[in-house]
Amino acid sequence: MQIKEILKQAPEGQQVTVKGWVKTKRGQANIVFININDGSALKNIQAVVEAGKIDEELLKTVTTGAAVAVTGSLVASSGSGQAVEVMAEKIEVYGPADETFPIQPKKHSLEFLREKAHLRFRTNVFGAVFRIRHTLAYAVHKFYHEQGFFYLHTPIITASDAEGAGEMFHVSTFEPNKAPLTETGEIDFTQDFFGRETALTVSGQLEGELGALALSRIYTFGPTFRAENSNTSRHLAEFWMIEPEVAFFELEDNMNLAESFVKYVIRYALEHCYEDLEFLQNRLMEEEKQKPQNERSELALIDKLKFVVENDFERLTYTEAIDILLKSRPAQKKQFQYDVAWGIDLQSEHERYLVEKHFKKPVILTNYPRDIKAFYMKQDDDLNGAPGPTVRAMDVLFPGIGEIIGGSQREDSYDKLLARVKEVGIDPENIWWYLETRKFGSAPHAGFGLGFERLVLFVTGMTNIRDVIPFPRTPKNAEF
Ligand code: ATP
Ligand code: MN
Repeated sequence: MQIKEILKQAPEGQQVTVKGWVKTKRGQANIVFININDGSALKNIQAVVEAGKIDEELLKTVTTGAAVAVTGSLVASSGSGQAVEVMAEKIEVYGPADETFPIQPKKHSLEFLREKAHLRFRTNVFGAVFRIRHTLAYAVHKFYHEQGFFYLHTPIITASDAEGAGEMFHVSTFEPNKAPLTETGEIDFTQDFFGRETALTVSGQLEGELGALALSRIYTFGPTFRAENSNTSRHLAEFWMIEPEVAFFELEDNMNLAESFVKYVIRYALEHCYEDLEFLQNRLMEEEKQKPQNERSELALIDKLKFVVENDFERLTYTEAIDILLKSRPAQKKQFQYDVAWGIDLQSEHERYLVEKHFKKPVILTNYPRDIKAFYMKQDDDLNGAPGPTVRAMDVLFPGIGEIIGGSQREDSYDKLLARVKEVGIDPENIWWYLETRKFGSAPHAGFGLGFERLVLFVTGMTNIRDVIPFPRTPKNAEF
């Protein structure tokens, strides 16, 4: 039985066996208290060893970090802090841990724990984070399933570069220095495993669209790779993305879906992870105390999550946002590092101003300039019905995070899409299959991508994306 279940039982002296890892051991003359955790929940169970009940030599090997099984009767606890405890009659030590075990019962920095990523799961913080991560992932599937979506597994190895950004990891079976060359001295990918150049996917969207234009509502939830060399607290080289794609959806429907989706999963975490959230909230409050007054966040973690669930996201166009930014104090006082002008790709300082200072709530920005967005986004018409300078894009911006979702209505006109593909320099031959969907039964459709780790960051209140994925992949780091 998991400790979480044992802790729920009524203490009637029944025999239980607790298996887990020792968090702490405190000894007094006649009695020893051992706190055991098995990761099923934040709470430990306390085992009480009375003098003479357990062999002294064996008891010495029950130290912080050791894996043990304790058998005994479950009784009401006389100490404060727990309702029940186990009166130990038998202890088995599966694996001892000596004093070099790095996760001793004291406060460790998250940086230190990143170096001990193989053991950091044993800490309260990472236990809480990964239980919440699991619950959010479960809620994602639950939400889409309830809404009639089908989970479509798009490929991880792909020959198309969806974002056109070229920040891809190559997939090849060639030995780096023995790749066959063509007559002109380039690598001859026709001799490679797939007979062409391939890479790890940066997005499942293009393939997702093919599914949506038949199954109507699909979503993907899979690993995504970007070889961008941005060493920030918001970027990973390997992350998980959720990408719904819906036929007959326009931009407005897409915004509604994004907002209800994010609210649903956050509400689900509030309902099912309260204990872990409370723990992380307390931890954050301790940290906040170290900060100067004006840098402290206004809301505690749980209130922040409730606020997002209970309030409408602010919706405005990119053009309106630029106006707000131009009139803002930091722009007037030249405090932004990057100048604001119509046409710029918003920097995170601009996004955070809008979300954290101006609206103080999540924001959905729409209708971005065409030139800073991907080729597949649907062009807006101008007032005369001619192609305008913007596309039907939408980004959802969150406090403390910046962009959490990027999406759009997709271009469904074959001619416009083909023209755009050529314009941005993609060889139409490479995505002939994508273009054909606009030839045969094209339909309005829309979708978006949510970076799962950015969601986990927001919900847990953690500040570095490396601390919300079990095994972070970042530039110069793939140790564990
Ligand atoms: P950013 O501007 O923050 O780098 P992006 O515009 O390149 O993001 P998109 O291509 O729109 O990102 O991807 C959709 C979503 O995937 C983003 O809104 C974000 O939540 C997430 N995402 C993108 N890149 C990364 C990354 N390197 N690590 C973690 N999540 C990411
Ligand atoms: Mn984006």
